[in-house]
Amino acid sequence: MALDAEIRAQLTQYLQLMEGDVQIKVSAGSDAVSQDMLALVDEIVSLSSKITVERAELSRTPSFSVNRAGEDTGIVFAGIPLGHEFTSLVLALLQASGRPPKVEQDLIDQIKGIRGEYRFETYVSLSCHNCPDVVQALNIMSVLNAGISHTMIDGAAYKDEVESKNVMAVPSVYLNGEFFGSGRMSLEEILAKLGTAPDASELAGKDPFDVLVIGGGPSGASAAIYAARKGIRTGIVAERFGGQVMDTMGIENFISVKYTEGPKLVASLEEHVKEYGIDVMKLQRAKRLEKKELIEVELESGAVLKSKAVIVSTGARWRNVGVPGEAEFKNKGVAYCPHCDGPLFTGKDVAVIGGGNSGIEAAIDLAGIVKHVTVLEFMPELKADAVLQQRLYSLPNVTVHKNVQTKEITGTDKVDGITFIDRETGAEQHVELQGVFVQIGLVPNTDWLGDTVERSRFGEIVVDRHGATNVPGVFAAGDCTNSAYKQIIISMGSGATAALGAFDYLIRN
Ligand SMILES: Cc1cc2nc3c(=O)[nH]c(=O)nc-3n(C[C@H](O)[C@H](O)[C@H](O)COP(=O)(O)OP(=O)(O)OC[C@H]3O[C@@H](n4cnc5c(N)ncnc54)[C@H](O)[C@@H]3O)c2cc1C
Repeated sequence: MALDAEIRAQLTQYLQLMEGDVQIKVSAGSDAVSQDMLALVDEIVSLSSKITVERAELSRTPSFSVNRAGEDTGIVFAGIPLGHEFTSLVLALLQASGRPPKVEQDLIDQIKGIRGEYRFETYVSLSCHNCPDVVQALNIMSVLNAGISHTMIDGAAYKDEVESKNVMAVPSVYLNGEFFGSGRMSLEEILAKLGTAPDASELAGKDPFDVLVIGGGPSGASAAIYAARKGIRTGIVAERFGGQVMDTMGIENFISVKYTEGPKLVASLEEHVKEYGIDVMKLQRAKRLEKKELIEVELESGAVLKSKAVIVSTGARWRNVGVPGEAEFKNKGVAYCPHCDGPLFTGKDVAVIGGGNSGIEAAIDLAGIVKHVTVLEFMPELKADAVLQQRLYSLPNVTVHKNVQTKEITGTDKVDGITFIDRETGAEQHVELQGVFVQIGLVPNTDWLGDTVERSRFGEIVVDRHGATNVPGVFAAGDCTNSAYKQIIISMGSGATAALGAFDYLIRN
């Protein structure tokens, strides 16, 4: 396997950053994947005198481990880490060579303080953009702590394992053989799941803020930066910093940046937020807001934060169909990310629920991988753009059912079919299939506010042109509001508006 010239040139440059020697141990057989893997390893070795290779017998073949000279790090790649995992390979080589990972010192201390044996295994697909974060976080943990090991397993190269473990969503992480979690997880989230994160009740003793932002997506980050630039005490409480942008692949409409990717944009947002000494409280979920003398925000940990003004920017999440089987078979055939989980359904039959742009884009993408796609649209017509519909109808392996209501996703331990009703005739139909991709839009994350703040019938917070809600001192921005359009640049603009509105409120009160 020859790397293309551009990747080879980039890799050569990165490998010059290596600090010490690295030893790759390869477990290969005579199969095609083994041969491709050997070719890749040989090519990498040829690019740096600091890397050596030796044959070994690892627990999976084909696989290879990336080690410090004379000491195993515990990092193993089972399969060929190209596609989205290529960066994970490059980082593993650099970190195994002694180059420090780019993470905060308190996280490094938490990782080093973990005691015991932790054998992580992560099933990925090479087209999954959520997987590298998890792989890279667990690789960092392996490099920093001798008790921790991590194997990335390419589901396409280990189909039998994937089948026998019923892995139907990636990334799927196992710890010491037991299911640990699936979907994108940051290093902080993994550590919190292991119980090593600092106690959230430490937050309770904080002094009141001038502006407290709830939500760490683009609107929250923008609001916090605008507030902090006024020299006032600003905090952000965020369940998952980056919000929906973390789940976004290519972004081509963030004006002035021709192309970027979600995680890259989130890293820049975080860097920008850090410039201003904003108190960022990650992995914290707000559950109640109450206006007293100050505004109080209660977190799920029980801690209560106080602030003179609050900006709610809690964004939106995927809408569920809410039929029997959806929750039961989540990650067991019910999926929300076609880019991530599509490859796990190669050669199988799937359904896409939703005929808007995201649903039809998903159906077109999936049709290239799976055997057959059934599209179910509730309305009499598809809502997707005409050009997408034309492309869809040109595909031989797609069936479209319009004006139908999904009744149930069926299965025993995983999805085996879907039942829907023709809304005109009432006729019920059942299609046998293995996967269901739900693509029916988003719902605002505002339930936690109860009746405290006025919301529209769609649950969106009603704001005026200053971003103010009906509660004095409470502002809102981004996808959780009744703004006409939901886009990154729009949410950032509304975050700025809400922060300026909040500042105005503070100087008048
Ligand atoms: C797959 C996908 C692709 C997209 N592609 C594009 C694109 O190419 N271009 C574009 O402009 N837009 C795109 N969008 C839309 C864009 O991502 C959103 O408009 C934008 O992220 C909204 O930002 P936000 O800050 O309002 O909300 P979000 O990004 O949803 O962020 C919400 C934040 O609030 C936090 N939160 C939620 N509830 C709580 C709580 N109770 N307590 C504490 N924190 C909480 C979340 O963890 C998160 O940090 C895409 C969206 C998706 C899903």
